[in-house]
Order: sequence, then structure tokens, then C-alpha cells
Amino acid sequence: MDTLLLKTSAEDIELAASFIKEGGVVGMPTETVYGLAANALDEEAVKRIFEAKGRPSDNPLIVHIADFDDIEKFSLVSKVPSVARLLAEKFWPAPLTIIMPKSENVPSITTGGLSTVAVRLPADINARRLIKASGCPLAAPSANISGSPSPTTAMHVYNDMKGKIPAIVDGGECKVGLESTVVSIEDEVVTVLRPGGVTVEDLKAVYDKVEVADAVLNKLKEGETALSPGMKYKHYSPKARVCLVRGSDKAFRDFVNKQNAEATVALCYKEDEAFINIPKISMGSKADLEAQAHNLFASLRMVDELEGIKTAFVRCPSQEGLGMAVLNRLIRAAGFEVIDLD
Ligand code: AMP
Ligand code: MG
Repeated sequence: MDTLLLKTSAEDIELAASFIKEGGVVGMPTETVYGLAANALDEEAVKRIFEAKGRPSDNPLIVHIADFDDIEKFSLVSKVPSVARLLAEKFWPAPLTIIMPKSENVPSITTGGLSTVAVRLPADINARRLIKASGCPLAAPSANISGSPSPTTAMHVYNDMKGKIPAIVDGGECKVGLESTVVSIEDEVVTVLRPGGVTVEDLKAVYDKVEVADAVLNKLKEGETALSPGMKYKHYSPKARVCLVRGSDKAFRDFVNKQNAEATVALCYKEDEAFINIPKISMGSKADLEAQAHNLFASLRMVDELEGIKTAFVRCPSQEGLGMAVLNRLIRAAGFEVIDLD
């Protein structure tokens, strides 16, 4: 199969939508990461997403809509909980996914067999144009091969998906650069299952009962059931070993400078660069969490593009604001391997 690289003109969006209407899978830009989009209500189409990604079938997909009213129009849920309505009103369109009780209309393959469905109204205008043109809600996981870093440019998608899908809509670099915040609502308590572009602080500013699931920053315990199936998989990893390093500026720089420069790369802050004499990739300024989120996956992909690199030592980000989302991805990329220098 040829994979077309489309732009965002009206004709190109229509062409991409025509593939989706035929049950195909298309690379879709969003403000978080690129998605692999297909009709969420068409079992065969959704099956093709799982095949293209090599995704485990128990890992449910997020259903993307173009308007709040699409929830009712496509009868996606059995009920919109009042707290879900409040969050949708305050944040959508946004990188925020809300889990709600699913209706019969949503095939079980889309929700990985769960009785709930994850719904998001993306901020990216081209994502919404594609959803509208397709005339259906779009199930779309990140458009990478399962387990590898998520794609934040159309070329990342092309590298992973060429020959497997008919088209990719190139909407430029993803603004946020990491996946949406996923929340569930139980007994009026909002639980963050995956941190993302809408921060815990943002949620707490509009609602007082917000918790963070333990598995966001900690390894699932032996026998513990994941609240969100995605929590249990190793994820976001380049082929090289990734290891998080926690410590002061000086401790981190001294540590990486002692490593073998032929086989090691440091993922560091802009301020570290001048003090590091092994290969290095800057993720942005220490205080600029938005830049770190934006550059995270491209930096992880770059690790494998460097010749001979076996290990990437990554500076552990702050846990505040968007930092929690960056740390959540990095700690999974590292398979929970963390070195404490202090
Ligand atoms: P991705 O498609 O790569 O953005 O990942 C979607 C994330 O949302 C995964 O971590 C899923 O496990 C999670 N998710 C999707 N649907 C549900 C659901 N119904 N209940 C809990 N987690 C969900
Ligand atoms: Mg993913």
C-alpha cells in the first residue's frame, strides 16, 4: 500500500476522510501527538488500527469528537456524569480525555472490552475538521508502533506506518507534544490515570476532588489491576536503554561526563549543554516545562538515530505542572530504572 502525505487543504481533508469512510486508518494531527484514526463505531476499521500499531487488544482507544453534542449524536455513552459535563464545559476543546460509561453503540473492540469509553474533544482545528468531514467519531491511539516513542511530526508517523496506512495528514508539529490527560470519575472523585497537557493543578482549579492514581509515577505492584490498561505496558522507549538520573546540576553533569562517550548520550537541559562532554540532546530550559513536553518524544527518537548509542541517561524533570506528564512518560521509557545521585 502507498502512504500519501497530505496537507490540510479542504481537498486533502476530504480525501483523508474518504479513506476513513471506507473503513481505512489515517494519520491525524492533534495538539497532543499524531493519532491513527478510524471510525470508532466500525469494528473492522478499529481492528485495522490495532493491526497497524501492533497494540495489545486489551488496551482501549480514545474516541475523538468534534463537538460536545457528538456524544449524544453518535450515542457514545449511557450517561454523561455531571462532573464529566463540568470538566467538558471548563476545558474542552483540550488535551483532556474523560472516561464515561459506554453505550451499546460503541463496539467492545474500541474499549478493549471495558464497559467504559474514553472521549476527547481535541483543540487542534485540523483534527476537528477531519472528524467532521469523516462524519463519525474517530478512535485514535498514538500513531507509533506499539511501545516506541509517540509521533509528534508527520514524518515520525511516516517512518513507523509507511506501507501500512493509506494516508497521513501533515498538520505540522504537535503543539503540546505528549498525550492527553486521562481522567476517570467515580463517586464524584476525579482520578488522573495519565497526566498530560491539562495539569493536575488545572483540574484542581475548577474542581476540588481530584486525585492522582498511584500508577502514574509508580510501578504497578505484583497482581495489581491497572485502572487504565495502558499503565501496565512498557512504553515510549527507543531501542537504547533509557535510565532516569535524579540529582543536582553538578551531580548530573559529573555523572554523565564519567560515561563512555562512544556509547552514551545525555538527555539534558539547555543549561547543562556547555558542561557536558559526551553526546547530548537538550530537551529545553530547566524551567520551561512546555518545551520539555514538546521536545520529549523527538528527543527519545533522536537517541536511536545516533550511531552506536547503547544508553541514554535522562535528567529527571520536576513533578510540578506539566512536569508530571513528562516524568510519567520518561519513567515508563526507562522501565522504572532511576539512579539517585543525592
Ligand atoms: P493512547 O491511545 O496511546 O493515547 O492511549 C490511550 C490511553 O487511555 C491508554 O493508557 C488507555 O489505557 C487509556 N484508556 C482508554 N480508554 C480507557 C478506559 N475506558 N478506561 C481506562 N483507561 C482508558
Ligand atoms: Mg500511545
